[in-house]
Amino acid sequence: MNKLFNEKQMLLDALHGKYAVGAFNFSSIEMMRAIVDACMNQRSPVILALSESGLKYANPGYIMDIMNAVMKTTDIPIALHLDHGKNFEIVKQCVDLGFNSVMIDGSYLPYEENVALTKKVVQYAHKHHVSVEGELGVLAGVEDDVSAKEHKYTNPEQALDFVKKTGVDSLAIAIGTSHGAFKFKGEPTLRFDILKNVSALMPEMPIVLHGASNVPQEYIETINKFGGKIKGAKGVSEELIKKACKMAVCKVNNDTDLRVCFTAAIRQFLKENPQEFTPRKYLQFAKDQVRQLVEYKVKKVFGSAKKA
Ligand SMILES: [Zn+2]
Repeated sequence: MNKLFNEKQMLLDALHGKYAVGAFNFSSIEMMRAIVDACMNQRSPVILALSESGLKYANPGYIMDIMNAVMKTTDIPIALHLDHGKNFEIVKQCVDLGFNSVMIDGSYLPYEENVALTKKVVQYAHKHHVSVEGELGVLAGVEDDVSAKEHKYTNPEQALDFVKKTGVDSLAIAIGTSHGAFKFKGEPTLRFDILKNVSALMPEMPIVLHGASNVPQEYIETINKFGGKIKGAKGVSEELIKKACKMAVCKVNNDTDLRVCFTAAIRQFLKENPQEFTPRKYLQFAKDQVRQLVEYKVKKVFGSAKKA
């Protein structure tokens, strides 16, 4: 049977190959299957990500059995990742469940406390052969259990110190992306100078980009056309993300785009088929839309197609 793939190796392969692996958050088994089907079709490695709220919703008692069932159906490299673990307890729970990658996000803490917490997590996780992602700098925006008003860009010298002191396997940095669907008031720009400086100091460190959703306007228009009310949603341009993937960015997180895609599809289907009440029908339609979106992203934006 296919085993969960070592995420650190997955990201190092991406770093050396100048592409990035998508980490896709999912809320339901339909979304998870859409992601896996897309990556199988494109022969792409993939990271399946759950936040703490996502894990609670999925039910921690179910998740590993579902994962094991998924692994039987595919031979592509898959990692199961905890997104934005805020404390040691949630990380430990995921390591003990059998996740093979965890994020400890101590970016809300003063620097020395972030270092101490991350180091403690690394010591525990590495004992169980689990990869650890740390975060330095703060992204603006709101998503699940994460929210902040303003950016705090990552300082490259501090990033080097952080990696040395904690031993993390990958590092999420803040270069101007934001969580959620409402990212920019003005023209979206990213601080590629910071990314360049970080990778110059640590050429072998896989860098992670959060808050990198594109928020396609066609989905927002579909949602609003079919009864939704989402105003002012705006994401990061794909050109900027593509450029980052060719640099040191090896993992790009995707949550918002899949949510708006899934919701747009369900709103559209139910409005256009008012007589329909079979969940399989509208969920199948939504699943197909998410699969197409993920296929597009791995092929056209992240460059990870044909790498598995
Ligand atoms: Zn994030």
